[in-house]
Amino acid sequence: MSPLLRFAILLTAANWIHFSWAGTDCSEYVVQPIDKLPAPYLVGLNTTFYKKFASANGIPVMSSDNVTDYALKESARIIQGVTRNLQPGFLDALIARTERISMWGSGETACSIPEVARPCFLQHFSGGMAFDNILILQETSFECDDRGNAWIGRVLIHEFGHSINFVFDDVQPGLQKQLDDAYANAQANQIWPPDEYAMTDDYEYFAVGEQTWFEANEVRHCEMGFCNKSQLQENDPELYAVEAQALTGPDWLYKCDEFCDPDSKSEPAKKRSVAEIRQLRPRFLKVKPGFRKYGYFGRKQKKVIRDDYSKLHG
Ligand SMILES: [Zn+2]
Repeated sequence: MSPLLRFAILLTAANWIHFSWAGTDCSEYVVQPIDKLPAPYLVGLNTTFYKKFASANGIPVMSSDNVTDYALKESARIIQGVTRNLQPGFLDALIARTERISMWGSGETACSIPEVARPCFLQHFSGGMAFDNILILQETSFECDDRGNAWIGRVLIHEFGHSINFVFDDVQPGLQKQLDDAYANAQANQIWPPDEYAMTDDYEYFAVGEQTWFEANEVRHCEMGFCNKSQLQENDPELYAVEAQALTGPDWLYKCDEFCDPDSKSEPAKKRSVAEIRQLRPRFLKVKPGFRKYGYFGRKQKKVIRDDYSKLHG
């Protein structure tokens, strides 16, 4: 091939990639005043703090005025992608317990979020965490990194995996036991490396598996043979069987080729097949320093936090 022809092909590919990065119209995720929440969500809600929300399939992503509308919309878009791939009963169970996603933004800490404010030992916490019916998430950049999506979006999907896990008993009694058995089997047979985060406990095991379902996991998971749903099925069929009772599809993967376009007002949202999305590899942008901190808590600590939260809120 002549160098000129090769150059022309490269240029064409570059143009195609450029156009495929146009972003997704997110005008369907309208940011509304907090008093427009469905009535059950307004019961006991601190409206001195909360000012606005965007709905993700009925699950509100809400905040004070210190979080950008963009972060609410992009988070709602991501959770919409996950929730439309839930098995029947799970979304209803989450909404029945008024599951919400609460973001803290510039000038705030996790302790600013009223539901977890007292007692608060999260002043220096970065990232996200799931409690009984609230997922808290820090507003940071949604910049793509070398996994082909954004760290904070992966945290959001991981934590939402815990939220799904927390309604197992409401939707399908017995599924937690099946998860615990799968976890014991994975430990006994070293299916995952022993120091892998998924091996922390059964909760993290499920959440990392759920991330994998949407390819919203990390580069290291690809290196250990858990890059996507089909590898999960092949390499850990027990965990796959549990995930498959909570998740369907997916008809959506968390990839950088789709993100809310701040400038897009009226074009219809791009819909792509999973196969198309796989073809569109991400831009490899550098993640900002300090954004790689996962705020991981072990099961025991998490239980303490949840117990405290239950005490505070009856
Ligand atoms: Zn976790």
